[in-house]
This record gives sequence, C-alpha cells and structure tokens, in this order.
Amino acid sequence: MSPNLPGAYKIIDHSYDAVVVGAGGSGLRATMECAQNGLKTACITKVFPTRSHTVAAQGGIAASLGNMGPDHWTWHMYDTVKGSDWLGDQDAIEYLCREAPAAVYELEHAGVPFSRTEEGTIYQRPFGGMMQNMGEGPPAQRTCAAADRTGHAMLHALYQQSLKYDADFYVEYFALDLIMEDGACRGVIALCLEDGSIHRFRSHAIVLATGGYGRTYFSATSAHTCTGDGGGMVLRAGLPLQDMEFVQFHPTGIYGAGVLITEGARGEGGYLTNSEGERFMERYAPSAKDLASRDVVSRSMAMEIREGRGVGKDKDHIYLHLDHIDPKVLHERLPGITETGKIFAGVDLTRQPLPVTPTVHYNMGGIPTNYHGEVVHLKDGDPDAVVPGLFAVGEAACVSVHGANRLGSNSLIDLVVFGRATGKRIAETVKPNTPHNPLPKGSEELALGRLDHFRNANGGSPTAEVRVQMQKTMQKHAAVFRNDELLGEGVTEIAKVYQRMQDIHVTDRSLIWNTDLVETLELDNLIAQAVATMNAAANRKESRGAHVNEDYPDRDDAHWMKHTIITFDGWGGKGGKTSIDYRPVHDYTLTDDIDYIVPKKRVY
Ligand SMILES: Cc1cc2nc3c(=O)[nH]c(=O)nc-3n(C[C@H](O)[C@H](O)[C@H](O)COP(=O)(O)OP(=O)(O)OC[C@H]3O[C@@H](n4cnc5c(N)ncnc54)[C@H](O)[C@@H]3O)c2cc1C
Repeated sequence: MSPNLPGAYKIIDHSYDAVVVGAGGSGLRATMECAQNGLKTACITKVFPTRSHTVAAQGGIAASLGNMGPDHWTWHMYDTVKGSDWLGDQDAIEYLCREAPAAVYELEHAGVPFSRTEEGTIYQRPFGGMMQNMGEGPPAQRTCAAADRTGHAMLHALYQQSLKYDADFYVEYFALDLIMEDGACRGVIALCLEDGSIHRFRSHAIVLATGGYGRTYFSATSAHTCTGDGGGMVLRAGLPLQDMEFVQFHPTGIYGAGVLITEGARGEGGYLTNSEGERFMERYAPSAKDLASRDVVSRSMAMEIREGRGVGKDKDHIYLHLDHIDPKVLHERLPGITETGKIFAGVDLTRQPLPVTPTVHYNMGGIPTNYHGEVVHLKDGDPDAVVPGLFAVGEAACVSVHGANRLGSNSLIDLVVFGRATGKRIAETVKPNTPHNPLPKGSEELALGRLDHFRNANGGSPTAEVRVQMQKTMQKHAAVFRNDELLGEGVTEIAKVYQRMQDIHVTDRSLIWNTDLVETLELDNLIAQAVATMNAAANRKESRGAHVNEDYPDRDDAHWMKHTIITFDGWGGKGGKTSIDYRPVHDYTLTDDIDYIVPKKRVY
C-alpha cells in the first residue's frame, strides 16, 4: 500500500436511502421499486444499463399464465422444487411462482413487446422440466417469449421505465468494496472509470445486483463482464457465499464459440442426435426427452461423447437439429439464433444441424438471502440471521429458488419478482431521507488499499495468463462429471492459481479508463469464487442437480439436504483458506395454500 493513502485519491461523498449496485434486470427492478416509494436512490453500474448480461437472454420468462393450455402456479412450484433437486427453499419458491403472472403482466404494461398468440395474448413456449399436473405431464407451455430476444426486450423496457423515476444513475462506475461496521453494511465505494475519482456512497440499504461469475470457466455463455464482483465483495467482508458447487451447464452452447442457442430451440421442436444419427435423449429421459432439465440433458450429451458417439472430427460434440422445422416458424420464433448459427458456426440451420456442446451458463450459488432479498448468514446458532443494511438479488444472490439446478426461464422471473420484493422490503424498513450516522473511521481503507495494491502490482504474472489458468482449471476439474480424484487435484490446482495473484503484473498505472486494472480487480473477484466453488464441490459427497460426483452417484438426503455456506480469507495475504458450514433447507411453504413438496427420485 502506498504510504500516503488515502490522501492520494480524491474521494467524493454521497448519501442515499438506497444504493443498488448493478443495472441488469434485477438491479433495475429494485431501483424502480425504491425510487417509486420515494426513497432517495442511486444505481451504480460498471457497464451502460442496457449492456448488462440480461440483454442476452433469449428463450423467455416463466409464469403460469395458462394462455396456451391449462396451467397453475402450484404446478410451476412443483417443477421448480423438483428441478432444484429438493435443495431450493420452498417458502421462496412459493413466493416466486405465485407472484410470477403479475410480474409478467407488469412487464407487458411496461412495454415489453411479447410475441402473441392468434387471440392476441402473450405467446408461451414449452421449456425443459416445465410440466402440467404436479409433474405428471404433459409439458406445460409456460415460458413467455418476445421471439428469441426476451432479455433484450425486458432490459430496454425496464431501463426506459426507471428513467421515469427520480433515481440517480452512476454509469461506468466500478464498485470496489462494501463499507461494514459491527456486522452491518453502511455503504459502498466505487471508482469512476472515466476520471479515476473515488466515490463513497453512504446508504441505509445496499443492494448487490451484480450478476453471476460464469467467467471463472473457459467456455461460458455469459458476457465477459460476468465476474461476480458482488460475491467478491461479500467474501472480503467476511460473509459467506452459498451453494457454490452448483454450476449450470447449458446443453447447447455452439461448439468452439460457446455462444448460446436457447432451450427455446428445443421448445419449438428441435432435437439432439449423436454420430449414429440417433435421438439419444429418448433413452435417458423417455418421457420429457429433449426437454428434460438442463443437468440431465448436459450429462446425457457428455455420456454419448464419452462412449465414442460424439460427432465431428474429434467426436467431441453433438448435433442440434432444427432443419425439420418450417423456415417460416424459425424466422418468426427464433430469428436471433438463425443469425447466431450462421455467424458462429457457419451453418444454415434450415438445412444443416448445429454443432453444440454443454457450456457453463448459470450460477445457482451466490449471496444467501431470504425472499425479501435480505442477506442472511449463520450467527449465534441462527441460520437465518439478517445482515443489516445488505441485500442481494438476481444471479448474484442465492434465495434459494433454484437449489441444485435452475429450470430454463426461471432466472428472468427471479430478477423481477425478487427485484420488486427487495425494493418493497427496503421501503418498509427505511423512511425517505432518514439522517445518516457518521461512517466509521477508515471506511475507505479496504477499497483503496486493494485498488492501490493492484494498480502498482509489479510481479511476473500478467492478468490474462492467470485468468486463463483459472478458467482451464475450473473447466477440467469442476465440470459436468466430477469425482473425488478430479476435485482433490482441482483444490490443489486452483490454490496454486490463487497464489499467483500475489505475483500479478499490471502494466497501466493510470486511473483513466484503466481496463488492465479493472480486469485485475475482476480477476481477484473471480478467483475467490473459483476457490469457493472447487472446495464446496470437493466437500459435497453426493450427486444432486448440477453437482454429480461419480464416486457417490445418488442423492443423499439424510446427510446432504442442506445448503453449503463457505467463507474465504483470501484478501491481504491471508493464504486463501476456505471454511465450510451449513444452513438448513427451508422445508416449509409460505402459506397453507400448498403443502411441503416431499422429496422423490427425480426422473423425467
Ligand atoms: C446468453 C444467456 C441467455 C440467457 N437466457 C435466459 C432466458 O431465456 N431465460 C432466463 O430466465 N434466463 C436466461 N439467462 C440467465 C439470465 O439472463 C441471467 O441470470 C440474468 O439476466 C442475470 O441478471 P442480473 O440482473 O442478476 O445481472 P446482469 O444482467 O448480469 O447484470 C449485472 C449488472 O451488475 C453490474 N455490475 C457488476 N459488477 C459491478 C461492479 N463491480 N460495479 C458496478 N456495477 C457492477 C453490471 O454493470 C450489470 O449492470 C441467460 C443467460 C445468458 C448468459
């Protein structure tokens, strides 16, 4: 650390009732709710709001509107609990599924241009794991879509709406660290990327809506900005992350490029084949077939490849067929992926199959919260103790509604339902313009010490090199199939990568648009979560949802129906040790309208 800190940095102070970090679907919805309730609200974002990863969501948003066949929120709830492999909290899942239809109508009224049925209602397509009649079937058409650009439509509508309210946007500001005092969150420190000024936000509520950490892996559908900065901040504050071992692989990333082909492609009738031209999903999931849940389809594909029935020169991928579908339907319902197929695979998908492979897509784990968005941790024996002043929402959070495996189209609905719930909770607990206590002395030290450390880092390991080593380690040791040996080696290998952070090299020392520095700060956030993911995965001795350990092929409810919580003492040369504890899964519902859904074997 420079001796003259913090005087060397210009600090600008702000005071708010609520500060939201992140302007994706969840951050914008929370911002709107706070501002609408008269709270003095700021939204800080490292990229322009409409460039957040939500913009890339294709397939749609789940809600039991019943526009295209019978449906009910209890059926949606059943599917979500089953999809989660009984690791989801059923009170939160009930809240999500009950609130979903109203949240979609709210989006419709906010201007989202949903595709339409003949009758003019919102178009809904089938998605993996979404069934009628409490899992009995047939498939439910539950996923509301704006062609295959649902996230794009949603994010633009939400941003336009949020401009209507009196929230202040800090665009291209990079949040560095939380300000904590006596176990409560008091504010956040951010770097203005344009001029290098430091901004200290004092606030009664801080909402982390910073998205996932998909970029810990080499092949991911997520944007390069998905670096889990919120999770990094939480770990540095000494708080735990939850269920980090559960990483979702999407069955259909384009081979090589990793770009996503939406599950909506299979929803519209697409199917997978192996090198023998066989529709192999009929063997693995006789009833749901290609529309089984994502973990099941990804594993089946990996099995086919492993047993020598992959396609291509190296027999290392699978074909996705859409060439049997009427080109008019493709043009209308899937225009985006038709284009994607051409650009990233060089394939005309009206005539040829697309080469696809399972690709990292979503983080079920994250910052533990209750269904009000309040961050929780284990304190004095209370597993649901609230961290005052701190909230999390969206992919950064672990509510947990997705448990061990998220169903497709359940994230977009999670963003808006819990974005709103979080804003409402803040409005209930914070009166507009409540005076602030002075901040603790040295409130900027953690953020500025770390910033200054990396800005002057002069070791022998370039950021890009360490990042690739981390990504390849994760891809090799914590993928679709895991076992004790792979994970054990993975724990050692990822610790070695973490050690290289001590030797990092940053070339650019300026503070004006220093992407070298920002990428290093992002890598520091990523590596902490890579270490957490690997250690949590090595610790869980069972197979559940997206976590499959071949040495323990079955789900073990007696020992493992519990949330992993993990802390990391990585910052400040503390050696990078993790420590693991558990929180119970909520085995109760929110109301008497539905009973607890009892665990069963998960077959599709
Ligand atoms: C290609 C793709 C397709 C998908 N399709 C679907 C789908 O069809 N249906 C579905 O339900 N789900 C889908 N998902 C998942 C879903 O889109 C995401 O989980 C969701 O959009 C995440 O939203 P979010 O609000 O949590 O964060 P994001 O949209 O990722 O936004 C994160 C925000 O945080 C800000 N931020 C991050 N770090 C900092 C920092 N340090 N300082 C300041 N700001 C920061 C960023 O600027 C950004 O505004 C898809 C995901 C991908 C990758």
